[in-house]
Amino acid sequence: MTNTIQPIFIMPEGTQRSSGKNAQRNNIMAARMVAESVRTTLGPKGMDKMLVDSLGDITVTNDGVTILQEMNIEHPSAKMVVEVAKTQEQEVGDGTTTAVVLAGELLKKAEELLDQDIHPTVIARGYRLAAERAMAILDGCSKGITEHDDDVLRQIAMTAMTGKGAETAKDKLADLAVKAVKQVMEKQGGKNEIDAENIKIEKKVGGSIDDSELVQGIVVDKERVHPQMPRLLKATTIALVDSAVEIKSTEMDAKIQITDPSQMQAFIDQEENMLKHMVEKIIRSGAKAVFCQKGIDDIAQHYFAKAGIYAVRRVKKSDMEALAKATGASVVTNLDDLSPTDLGRGTVEEVRVGDDDMTYVKECQNPKAVTLLVRGSTEHIVDEIKRAVDDAIGDVIAVLRNGKAVAGAGAAEVELARNLRSFADSLSGREQLAVRAFADAVEVIPRTLAENAGLDPIDVIAELKAAHDHGYNLVGIDVFSGKPIDAWQAGVIEPLKIKTQAVSSASEVAIMILRIDDVIAATSGKRDMPPMPNMEM
Ligand code: ADP
Ligand code: MG
Repeated sequence: MTNTIQPIFIMPEGTQRSSGKNAQRNNIMAARMVAESVRTTLGPKGMDKMLVDSLGDITVTNDGVTILQEMNIEHPSAKMVVEVAKTQEQEVGDGTTTAVVLAGELLKKAEELLDQDIHPTVIARGYRLAAERAMAILDGCSKGITEHDDDVLRQIAMTAMTGKGAETAKDKLADLAVKAVKQVMEKQGGKNEIDAENIKIEKKVGGSIDDSELVQGIVVDKERVHPQMPRLLKATTIALVDSAVEIKSTEMDAKIQITDPSQMQAFIDQEENMLKHMVEKIIRSGAKAVFCQKGIDDIAQHYFAKAGIYAVRRVKKSDMEALAKATGASVVTNLDDLSPTDLGRGTVEEVRVGDDDMTYVKECQNPKAVTLLVRGSTEHIVDEIKRAVDDAIGDVIAVLRNGKAVAGAGAAEVELARNLRSFADSLSGREQLAVRAFADAVEVIPRTLAENAGLDPIDVIAELKAAHDHGYNLVGIDVFSGKPIDAWQAGVIEPLKIKTQAVSSASEVAIMILRIDDVIAATSGKRDMPPMPNMEM
C-alpha cells in the first residue's frame, strides 16, 4: 500500500489567500498609501489636488474626503481608511484629512513595533488604552463655548476655511455660517439641538464670493416655466409633485393611421384634454404654486399660467425634500391623491441672481429653514467654496452641540502627545511601548502642518514641545511666520469633536487592520487581488 497525501481543498478553486506577516504588511502598506495621498493637503498651506474622472470632469480640491471618494480606491484595507474619512465627514463635517493622516501614522508606528517583534494584539491593546485616555486628555485641554461667544464661533468657522478656495471672503462667509447655524438652533432642555438638514447650501456661478448671502427659506435653482405666471405669490399654498405632468410616450412603437384631418384633430384634442385634467387636479387641491420633480408639458404650462399658478419643473430630489421640510407639504406621486392637506405654505418668488432666475421660497411654515447661497466666478471655484462652507458649518454645529473647543495649529496634538507620554510612564509591560508610539503618531499633525508650510518639522516640534513643557498648552505653529504662537489668541480654534472623532476612528481602523492576519479573497471574475492605490496621486 502506498501512502500518498492528497491535497485538501476547503475553499473554491481560485480563492486568493495571503496570511501572517504578508497579509499584515500588505494591509498596512495599502492603508498608509491612502494617508500619504492626502497628507500634502493638510492645513492652511496644504496644496490642492486636481481629480479628473472617467468622463473628464475636473474637481480641484483640498478636501480629504472628496479626494478619497474621487480616487475610487479598491484595496480592501485602504477602503477601510477611506471609511474613516467618511465617518468624520458625517459626524463632524471637517477634519477628514486629519483623521486619515493620523490613521496612517498609527499604522506606521505599529509597523515599527512589529519589527521589534511585539505582537499585534499587544499593540492593539496599547492603542486602545491610549485612545481612551486621549478622550479625557483632549477634554481636559478644551474650553467651554456658548452660542453667545460670537467672536469665537466666527474664528472657528474661519479656521475651517483657512487655505481653502474660500480664503478671500472668509470673514463674510464665516459670519454667514455662524448666522445660519444659530438660526436653526433650538434650545431643548438646556441642550442645543441643531438639525443640520435645515441649512441648505445652494451654489450659483456668477458674481463674486462676496455676493454670497443667507436667505431665510429655500432657494431652488429653477425659474418658473412660463413668463405669464406670477412672479410673486405671498403666503401661498404649495404642492410638491414627483411625477410628470406630461403624457408618457408608450414604451412600444405604436403607429397610428390617420385617414382624415378630423381624426388628427381628435387625437390632439384628446391629449390636450388629458393634460388639462392633470392640471385641474392640481388646481382643485387649492395649490397656487407647484414644484414638480419631473417635466411639465408645454400645454400644461399654458394651463397653469392661465390659472395664475407658479410652476417649476425638474426640481432636484434633494430640493423637493428640503421644500417638504420647510413648507410642511408632502410630496405626492399620484395626482389623484393630491388633497389640500398635502399642501405646504410659504411665499414664492422668482428672483434674478446674476444672469439667471432662481425661485425663493420664503416665510415658510418652518421658520428654521435657511439657505446659504454661495456665489463665485466659476463652477470649480463655487464647488470648492461650497465644500469649505460645509466644513465651517459642520464645525460651528459641532461646537454648539457639545459646547467645547480646542486650540488648533497643532496645539491640541502636542498637548495630547505630552500627556500620553506621561500616561505611558505609568504603565508597565509592552503596552507602554504602544502608548508611546501612539503619542508619537499624534504629532504627525503639527509635523505635517510644518512640512506643508515648508518649515523644518524637527525644529518646529522641538519648539512646540518646549513651550508645552513650560505650561503654555495653547501654543501651536504659525504656518505663515514659522514661529510658535498662542493658537487660541490667534483665533485658530477648532471643535473638540474634530479631535476626539479623528482619534477614535483613526485608532479603531488601525487596530482593526493590525488584527488581521489572513486575507481570503474570492475571485469575482477578477483573477488578481485588487490593485494598490496609486502612489502618484
Ligand atoms: P482637515 O481635512 O483635517 O480639516 P485641513 O486642511 O482643514 O484638514 O487642515 C486642518 C488643520 O489645519 C488643523 O490641524 C488646524 O488646526 C490647522 N490650521 C487651520 N488654520 C490654521 C492656521 N491659521 N494656522 C495654523 N494651523 C491652522
Ligand atoms: Mg478642515
